[in-house]
Amino acid sequence: MMRVKNAGDYRESLQELSPKVFYMGKRIEDVVTHPVTRPHVNSAAMTYALASSRKYQDLFTTTSHLTGDRINRFTHIFRNAEDLITKVRMLRLLGQKTGTCFQRCVGLDALNALYSVTYEIDEKYKTEYHSRLKEYLKYVQSNNLMCVGGMTDPKGDRSLPPSKQIDLDLYLHMSGKNAKGITIRGAKLHQTGAVNSHEIIVMPTIALGEEDKGYAVAAAIPVNSPGITMIFGRQSNDSRKFEEGGMDIGNPRFGLVGGEATIVFDDVFVPWERVFMCGEHEFAGPLVERFASIHRQNYGGCKGGIADVLIGASAAIAEYQGLAKVSHIRDKLTEMIHLTETLYGTSIAAAVEGKPTPSGMFYVNAMLANVSKQNITRFMFEICRLATDIAGGLLATMPSEADLRSPEVGRYVEKYFAGAAGVPAEHRMRVARLIENISGGTALVEAMHGAGSPQAQRVMIYRQGGIEEKKRLALALAGIAGYEKTE
Ligand code: SF4
Ligand code: FE
Repeated sequence: MMRVKNAGDYRESLQELSPKVFYMGKRIEDVVTHPVTRPHVNSAAMTYALASSRKYQDLFTTTSHLTGDRINRFTHIFRNAEDLITKVRMLRLLGQKTGTCFQRCVGLDALNALYSVTYEIDEKYKTEYHSRLKEYLKYVQSNNLMCVGGMTDPKGDRSLPPSKQIDLDLYLHMSGKNAKGITIRGAKLHQTGAVNSHEIIVMPTIALGEEDKGYAVAAAIPVNSPGITMIFGRQSNDSRKFEEGGMDIGNPRFGLVGGEATIVFDDVFVPWERVFMCGEHEFAGPLVERFASIHRQNYGGCKGGIADVLIGASAAIAEYQGLAKVSHIRDKLTEMIHLTETLYGTSIAAAVEGKPTPSGMFYVNAMLANVSKQNITRFMFEICRLATDIAGGLLATMPSEADLRSPEVGRYVEKYFAGAAGVPAEHRMRVARLIENISGGTALVEAMHGAGSPQAQRVMIYRQGGIEEKKRLALALAGIAGYEKTE
């Protein structure tokens, strides 16, 4: 694997890897240039581009605690609250610059979750997972690699554990083992950034019991390993990516959400030095929780940045339509800002209230991280609702770019979609398309289910909610016998 120094190297490195990716039943030969994957590559490339620009050095790079070298922050193990705060700030800036998902956080969060959990497995079993992970981390850091964090299994009948499924491959598991390593079999769904990552880090997706220990596997695999096949998912309006111009995509350069794919593992070989959990089933639950909480904390950052773009687009279209000074428009923009800053504030709070784990990895406050993601599942809908309200019906009825450019009808589109004070129709249409892109179907599904569906957060919120302790507080104040002590 080549050392990736900038966005250009990143694109080249993907072409060199040439993973096996399918879309609409056909092989994508080059994810960098194919119209359907190119925008996602561009978005992830920003994590490299901004790190190599002098202006953003401090935000995007830091010092490796393993080697002392300067590294990209997307490969860093969080050492303190400041690291977690800086991460959220970096994600917000990237959200502002791309208006979409830039995908690279998943691998970062997987590395951090594994860093702390492998340490704890080794403490209990005297295994060597943590030192293996440290070696692997050095490799990722020194080559500046992008990893996809493979977590979500197909899950089949969700009322049954992995080993009781009709098809035993519905959760990824170990399918073979020898002196050199293991083979793994199964699939991971909804994988953000999979087709344009260098490495896949697989982890279990649920807590596992003794009978499911064959499913307790964590490992890292290059994306082009034999036995790996990816199937790129469809998004709303994805056929627009094949049209001339690209204006109707709304965000032509960076596309829509993360570019999710299904990854199939057909007895993929993994050498022992890349295996970080193998059968220690009681650590599957903590690994899932840690990864999920770390990732959930991100959303106030990245979605905050995207919401900033939506606020800007809504303000612009209101201006284009001659409504900039209308009081209810200002009030709606104010509400959007309020919700966005609330999202951001909770993410920052989850960092500030974090605690170190025994491995030295600094862990978010899990309660606040889950609250932060739960807010996203509501507030992004409200922010998008307000943007749709401000923009108006043209979001769903506007003619296409082809109509605008048409020799027959173009002049009508120009004339009737022109904005206030000579704003050309094209400007108004471009901004409206951007609002459609961010507030439409696929992006809202991502806000709802990305980093775990709302119920997954509610389970953790309740579990960490300290109900018994809160009950004691209330009963003491109410003067119930046996609870009076207040000190
Ligand atoms: Fe990063 Fe946000 Fe995309 Fe998750 S949804 S990978 S946190 S940008
Ligand atoms: Fe996501």
